[in-house]
Amino acid sequence: MPNIKQNYSLKSHNTFNIAAKTKYFVECNSIEELQQAVKQSETGFGPRLIVGSGSNILFKDDYNGLIIHPNIKGKKLLKETHSSIQIKVSCGENWDDFVEYCVENSYGGLENLSWIPGKVGAVPIQNIGAYGVEAKDCIIEVEALNITSGEIKTFTKDECEFGYRNSIFKNEYRSKYIILAVTFELSKNPSLTTNYGAIQKHLNNYPKKNIKTVRKIIINIRKEKLPDPNEIGNAGSFFKNPIVNRVKFENIYDNFPAMPYYELSQDTVKIPAGWMIEKCGWKGKRIGNAGVYNKQALILVNYGNATGQEIYDLSQQIKADVKKQFGITLEEEVNII
Ligand SMILES: Cc1cc2nc3c(=O)[nH]c(=O)nc-3n(C[C@H](O)[C@H](O)[C@H](O)COP(=O)(O)OP(=O)(O)OC[C@H]3O[C@@H](n4cnc5c(N)ncnc54)[C@H](O)[C@@H]3O)c2cc1C
Repeated sequence: MPNIKQNYSLKSHNTFNIAAKTKYFVECNSIEELQQAVKQSETGFGPRLIVGSGSNILFKDDYNGLIIHPNIKGKKLLKETHSSIQIKVSCGENWDDFVEYCVENSYGGLENLSWIPGKVGAVPIQNIGAYGVEAKDCIIEVEALNITSGEIKTFTKDECEFGYRNSIFKNEYRSKYIILAVTFELSKNPSLTTNYGAIQKHLNNYPKKNIKTVRKIIINIRKEKLPDPNEIGNAGSFFKNPIVNRVKFENIYDNFPAMPYYELSQDTVKIPAGWMIEKCGWKGKRIGNAGVYNKQALILVNYGNATGQEIYDLSQQIKADVKKQFGITLEEEVNII
């Protein structure tokens, strides 16, 4: 039976480094332990929340319920052909360790998602993405435990309803399933995705153009651009990049012709939230212990002892300014608890 701890500090379980507490906390190292914890906590423990590495969560307050920390390890080769390989990875594996393993073995597809913090179990939740690639591009199945019934269900890729930083697990099934494992299909003859950001430009400087080089370039760019949560608390991009219709886009563009944008379809355009936040004058600003990162305005940071409420209040001020200047309501990418 897993040990349920009481009044437990979450400081080392969230990359914002917020010193919030949870009423109850349980770490589970196997499916059986998870099933026992779920059954045991059916009544009397309050709401339940799953936490991996806490790199996409802001604890605004103490948590008045049970935090379940699934820490199941392992990966299994399911199928191999001359051109591809299928690997099932347990939820508690570190994401970047898995990406490194794939790259070292020349299994391509995930290299653009290098150096993203977190556990494998959280990857399908917001369909993590970076540098023109999303996790869904390689996911074929997700295995999950139903918190109410204790049954294990395998979701096909279609059933996961993946979208931009979105999936069914962030909506209808939020807090209803614990992701146990994810199955990825990777290519043994990978083609490179280099048309995003400055990857192609950097690649031109390397004699070997392969997934190892792409991983190296991306890690270098990320280390240069993003704050290291071990040094300064943060959860990566705080807001999603808004997607607007063309009429709205053109209205804004008329006033801000220097605005960067990505055409997604004839009718939809994505605008970088970081650019709008910067235009509102927030880049590098600090209020008390909370601030906006000086190299990337989309990232909110904890300069030391910020409370979750301080970070949240700052985010709301930013949101209000962006709404006032651009008429767009930013949506949080980070899960506010
Ligand atoms: C410096 C930095 C850079 C980042 N860059 C990127 C990036 O480029 N692209 C990107 O997409 N994200 C990025 N992120 C966000 C974050 O790393 C990812 O969202 C990551 O997948 C979160 O993993 P986690 O284990 O920390 O999840 P957590 O933060 O613990 O949880 C995130 C959400 O998933 C749920 N959850 C977690 N595990 C499970 C499970 N096993 N079953 C069910 N629900 C679960 C939680 O309840 C919560 O709602 C970045 C974060 C940081 C700090």
